[in-house]
Amino acid sequence: MNYQKVINEIYQTIHNQENIGQVASYIPELSKVDPSNFGVCLRTIKNEEFGAGDWQTKFSIQSISKVLSLSLAYKILGDSIWKRVGVEPSGNPFNSLIQLETDNGIPRNPLINAGAMVICDILISHTENATNDFLQFVRKICSNNNINYSESIAQSEKATGYRNIALCNFIKSFGNIENDPATVLDFYFHMCSIEMSCQDLTKTFMFLMDNNFRTPENERVLNTSQAKRINAIMETCGFYDESGEFAFKVGLPGKSGVGGGILALHPNEYCIAIWSPKLNKKGNSSRGMKFLESFTTKTNSSIF
Ligand code: GLU
Repeated sequence: MNYQKVINEIYQTIHNQENIGQVASYIPELSKVDPSNFGVCLRTIKNEEFGAGDWQTKFSIQSISKVLSLSLAYKILGDSIWKRVGVEPSGNPFNSLIQLETDNGIPRNPLINAGAMVICDILISHTENATNDFLQFVRKICSNNNINYSESIAQSEKATGYRNIALCNFIKSFGNIENDPATVLDFYFHMCSIEMSCQDLTKTFMFLMDNNFRTPENERVLNTSQAKRINAIMETCGFYDESGEFAFKVGLPGKSGVGGGILALHPNEYCIAIWSPKLNKKGNSSRGMKFLESFTTKTNSSIF
């Protein structure tokens, strides 16, 4: 498969089309991004790398990082995390409060905001310094010490995150947050503010694609069964209430973020990351969705 050729062709086709959608502005700092950015990186299981456009430019990965915090909590605590958070698609917006009332404060899954906050709470309870330990974990699996939080984005979200603040306090009222909500939210906003390029993302997510992946210290991140489960959650819950549509059109486990990034992977074959900041109405990168639909069709590589 000539991945570079396929990537270049799709990239050019989409680049020539109108760049539709809206850049996220509910976090004011995110609206400062240049909407014309468009990058793609693919990494195969043999670690061959292919890129196009702005694939080495760092951006705010936002909710994509929820998969990484979930993986760290799963690594530390194993299956006991599922007592605190479910594994069902929500069918509701990522920041919805409605289901929490009927579900008694147990979020439907760890990739919606409520679920990610419970995972943050778990990490605060079981690490020395969650904000620092999480960053070190990401740097280690990416083999890159140059990955950082964006303090300006974290602070911008903190100053305007009324709904997230409500969510965290609401879960606390059901007893499913152990720590002080302000501490949980501070870690949550930092966790979402992490900046990576498409190239960094494909390196970072190798551990969910390649069963033989080892960190530089020759350590396994998750076992095969755990990796399968995280991929299953990405498949069913990774794209807000457009997850069914993504499975239908693209057919890969993945996760998007409101910074316009999408990470998707084909187990034992490749990881692919796309970045284009303009989002569709469901909050997923418009160009990213288009790119991946075309990519899995042309390469005949959906998991279905
Ligand atoms: N930090 C963002 C929020 O909580 C993440 C949103 C996203 O990328 O889905 O609203």
